[in-house]
Amino acid sequence: MKTRVVMPPSGIKEAVRLLSTGEPVALPTETVYGLGAAALDPMACAKIFEAKERPLSDPLIVHLPSFDWLEKLAQPNDLALRLAEKFWPGPLTMVLPRQAIIPDIVTAGQETVALRMSAHPVFQQVAEAFGQPIAAPSANRFGRISPTRAEHVLSELDGRIPLILDGGPCAHGIESTIVLIRGDGMEVLRHGPVTAEELLKFGRVLLGSGGISAPGMRKSHYAPRTRLEIKWHRHPADALSGSSAGSQCHAGLLAWSSSGDGYGAVERLSPTQDLREAAANLYGAMRRLDEAGLELIVAEPVPETGLGVAIMERLRKAAARD
Ligand code: AMP
Ligand code: MG
Repeated sequence: MKTRVVMPPSGIKEAVRLLSTGEPVALPTETVYGLGAAALDPMACAKIFEAKERPLSDPLIVHLPSFDWLEKLAQPNDLALRLAEKFWPGPLTMVLPRQAIIPDIVTAGQETVALRMSAHPVFQQVAEAFGQPIAAPSANRFGRISPTRAEHVLSELDGRIPLILDGGPCAHGIESTIVLIRGDGMEVLRHGPVTAEELLKFGRVLLGSGGISAPGMRKSHYAPRTRLEIKWHRHPADALSGSSAGSQCHAGLLAWSSSGDGYGAVERLSPTQDLREAAANLYGAMRRLDEAGLELIVAEPVPETGLGVAIMERLRKAAARD
């Protein structure tokens, strides 16, 4: 299959036409690029799993074209309605009891469905013109780094999908915050652009997964092919000691505050140490280091406050090998 990259506004029509015929298309969102397909069409959703090589046990997030779809797809309680009003459209995904209309392939057979409404103007135009919910996980092969630019999607899925709609670089650069609504409380299943501090204004916040099945929460995820270690800055020769080929130019640094002298490659997350900028740069920087032919990527930890919590969660998953 030939994969074409198209631009809005003309590309929007084409994306909608493909979605209507049950084909998957890559679309920009404000978090990362998504691989979208008609959420109410199980065959269309199956093509997402196929293109990504995603296990069928890993449920998809469904994007709403408008607020009135919320109660058609799920059973929101008062808290969910208040969160939707505050954060939608935006980077918050809510896991709610599903309605029967949702195909099993979307929820991986669970009784809950994950819902979101994107604030990206291009995504919104596609969703509005399509007029139906769109299932859209990140547009990368399973377990790999999420794409934050159209060219990242091309390098992940070239030949596997018909179309990529290029909406420029993603504003947030990391995936949406996922909360499981439990009565008047929220359990954060994945940290993201909407922080726990912001959620606290709406009720109790529990951190970490309370044992519900959320397969995307496995230890290793968002991972480069190159080994990645999180370390306070040390000299690259130290970072490589104990490994086979000990030349320091074989290590790269994903830098937060240090200069990276002596490393073979350095990617700076944010020269001004701004966590928002760091989040937006994270995956692009990781991808460039991964393509630099290094033996090791050393990632410096960032402060674990606000968005830093989400960034550190991604770095730990990139470092995990399971
Ligand atoms: P992605 O769309 O690739 O960013 O990942 C979506 C993630 O959302 C999945 O890996 C799950 O962990 C989570 N998710 C989706 N649906 C559900 C659900 N019904 N219950 C719990 N977690 C979910
Ligand atoms: Mg993903």
